[in-house]
Order: sequence, then structure tokens, then C-alpha cells
Amino acid sequence: MIYHSTRNTKLTATASEAILKGIAPDGGLYVPDDIPKLDKSFTKLAKLDYPHLAYEVMKLFIDDFTPEELMDAINNAYNTKNFDHEDITCLVEADGAYYLELFHGRTIAFKDMALSILPYLMMTSARKCGVKEDIVILTATSGDTGKAALAGFDSVPGTGIVVFYPKDGVSPVQERQMVTQAGENTHVIGIRGNFDDAQREVKKAFTDETLAKKMLEAGYRFSSANSINIGRLVPQIAYYVYAYTRLCPKEINFVVPTGNFGNILAAYYAYRMGVPIHKLICASNDNKVLYDFFKTGVYDRNREFILTSSPSMDILISSNLERLIAELAGEETAGLMKQLSDKGRYELPANSRSSEALQLFEGEFASEAEMSARIKELYEKEGYILDPHTAVASAAYEKYKKETGDDTCTVIASTASPYKFTRAVLTSIDAKYSSMEDFALFDELNKLSQVPVPKAIKDIISAPVKHNTVCDKDKLIEEIEKIYL
Ligand SMILES: *Cc1c(COP(=O)(O)O)cnc(C)c1O
Repeated sequence: MIYHSTRNTKLTATASEAILKGIAPDGGLYVPDDIPKLDKSFTKLAKLDYPHLAYEVMKLFIDDFTPEELMDAINNAYNTKNFDHEDITCLVEADGAYYLELFHGRTIAFKDMALSILPYLMMTSARKCGVKEDIVILTATSGDTGKAALAGFDSVPGTGIVVFYPKDGVSPVQERQMVTQAGENTHVIGIRGNFDDAQREVKKAFTDETLAKKMLEAGYRFSSANSINIGRLVPQIAYYVYAYTRLCPKEINFVVPTGNFGNILAAYYAYRMGVPIHKLICASNDNKVLYDFFKTGVYDRNREFILTSSPSMDILISSNLERLIAELAGEETAGLMKQLSDKGRYELPANSRSSEALQLFEGEFASEAEMSARIKELYEKEGYILDPHTAVASAAYEKYKKETGDDTCTVIASTASPYKFTRAVLTSIDAKYSSMEDFALFDELNKLSQVPVPKAIKDIISAPVKHNTVCDKDKLIEEIEKIYL
């Protein structure tokens, strides 16, 4: 299996190299030359548990690992130490659809599905590529990804992680989640500045040659864990294959609450591997760039940025979309991406608009009010409580069903536990909760949902603070040096 850059097919890499590098040298994303077909029947796959099914999917993409290496990584990630559900993920039927609960990992959101295995894929890739140094992950976070990455890298031998967050720019719960992170190899630093400052300064540290040289001499090498890494995309394909094999209908729809387009792209790769998908419904919140794109073929980020209760979908540039664009537009991709960075806008070439790939996708969106109403409705009908991201997808699906009459068996990707967004969830059900304190709301949600308070939440309440460094926004490099040099 060979990967190449979306912007230049001649820039190639093996799976290990692509995982280790994250991004191609020309700024493109690594995509496989060919998407492999599943090599076992659905009858056989239906008998496998999650780790073994993940193996059958991942082995086809990460073919330079030995079977033992890949299975080791899988077993280190998908176990009941990291997940509070014995099957890792599960399907819950409610109001005519199935919810694929992807939030049973350590930070109760779907990013754990990929970030729990990425550290192991990276360490093995490093060894295969002859890298002897420890891998140090540098990340700027506006809240959620930082915590999921910290939890994934926590105590993984041969790795370290430093997360920078805007000191006054994340929610109290998010901050507590990060500063209580255990693990000798984890570091969390607040910066006096906003998220853009954090991101810019991390990028600077990444590309600082003097720092890189000093780090190498001390036995460390930087890498990044962001969502364009193929090592995050490939593990996500597995749960779509898994969901299909638990139900085995003639055809299936997946509805995915979308931000960076990583999760739904994994569903598309499952389709290419042979899962009989009828429609992929890409659900957006009020930041509906993708909805407009699928309706018109024009991607245009020049619009107001709207803050919603589904913050992980508040995104105007969906970086993983470039992988789909590369299939649709081929050699024109680099040019389109240049237009995106120069003018914030591009149009798909006319000849690609009727392609089979594009026909598979259906754009939908749900406003803040539609999202809230859906949480309330599903709670009252079924007693099942959704987080705001999943509720956007669920509301979008209801609209899609009304518009099309499509009654294909449908699975909605459920990307976070309602406990992660307790306030938005409960105030959707009843305004009376708005006056209550954050920590009291956990008990209220427990009463309404009958779902036990997850460990991730209990930890926030009781775990001791381990990280209390705060630095000026131009002092990141000094802080990194203090840790490693
Ligand atoms: C990251 C995230 C999403 C969006 O997923 P993408 O892969 O970025 O499209 C949706 N819901 C939740 C809860 C998330 O954390």
C-alpha cells in the first residue's frame, strides 16, 4: 500500500512514513493510491468482536506492520481499561434509527476511537522508519482535542505530549479535564492569549530548526496528532464496517455530525471497501459550509462564524474534505486548495459534479433551535438523551427523511456523551436547569437519563490538579526547553 499527497501524486510514502509525518511535505494530505476491498465476507466479519474486526480493516491500510504489531496496537487501545463498554462501541435503537455510540472512551467523545490507538501506531511507525528518538507531540487546543490526545498518549512508552491552551479561552470543565491529566509524559500549559495565538506559536515551535536540533541531541523528535493524520482516519473506518455487520441490512445510510470531515470521510472509505452504503448524510450546524458545498459544488468560507452548542462542528475549513476533493478533481486539487487559502472559496470543476462519489453524499443541517427541539423530542418519546452534536445529526436526519421519504436502515454516528455538554442538553429539555450550577447538573442528567455518571466526569470532580504552568504567549519554546532539555 502506497500513499501519495493529495496535491502531488509523485510525493509518496508507506503507511508508516505517512503516520509518522502526518502531513505531506507540500502541505497536502496523504491518501492511499487505491482503497482496498474487504477480503472477508460480511458473514465472517459479523462474527468478530471489535478488536478483531478493526484488525481486518486496518491491516489493509497499514500493511507494513506485522500482524503482531498491528494486533498489539489494537489491544493496547481497545480494551476495558480505556473504554467503559465491553464491546467498545454499541448500537442503540431509538425512534426509527440506530445510534452508534462512539463515546465510551476516556474523554467520552468519538475522538477517543482514534486517539487511543494513534500513539501505538506512531511508536511502531517510528521504529520501522529507523527513528530512535522519543516522539513528542505538540498541540494547541481550544478544549476537546487536547484532552483526548493527552488521554491517548498518557504513559505510552517512547512518547511525550505538550498541550497548550488559551488560559481564559476554554470552559471550566475543559480546563479541569486537562489540568488533572495523569501520566509522567503529559504536560499541559496555559498561555496568556487566545486559541489563534496558541496555534500560531505551536506552529513556530514546530518549525524552529534550532529547537528541533537541540531536541534531537537530547533524544526527542516532534510530531503532531491532528485529525489529518492517516493514523487517525484508518481506525475510524472500522466502526462503520462494525456497525454494518451488526445489522447486515441490504443497504445502509450513515448520518454523521461533521466538522473537519474526518469522521464522515472514514464512512466513505468503508463504502469504497465494499460496505453497501446508500447515502452518507453530512450533517452541519449553523456553520453550514458543507451543506452549501454539497448543494452547489461551491465551497465558500467567507461568511460569519457562528458559535453554537456543538462547538466541534463550528468549523469553516474542513481540512479532511481535501481527500474527497482529490478524488473528484485529481490534478486540479492543489489549485483549488490555493484558491481556498487565498480567497476562501473554490468551485468544483463541472465534470466532477455528477461523479458517483459526490452522488453518495447528501448535505443537511440543523439550526440551534432544531437541535434543541430534537433533544427534547427524543427524550420525551424514548427517554434517550443525545449530546448537541449527535442531536444536530438526528435533527438533520429527520429533515432528510421528510424531504426524501428514504426508509433505508439508518445509523447515526453518536459522537459525544450528553455528560460532556450537560448544560446545553438539560436546558434543551427544560429551561429550569439554566439557573443550576455545572456540577449539580451531572446529578440531574443522571436522574433523567438513568445512565451512570461516566468515570471521565467523576475524575473531573475528584482528581487532583497536576498541571499549573501558565506562560506568556511568546514563551512556548522556553517552556518546551524547560521540560525536555
Ligand atoms: C470532532 C467532533 C465532531 C466532528 O468530527 P469531524 O471528524 O471533525 O468531522 C463531531 N462531534 C464531536 C463530539 C466531536 O468531538
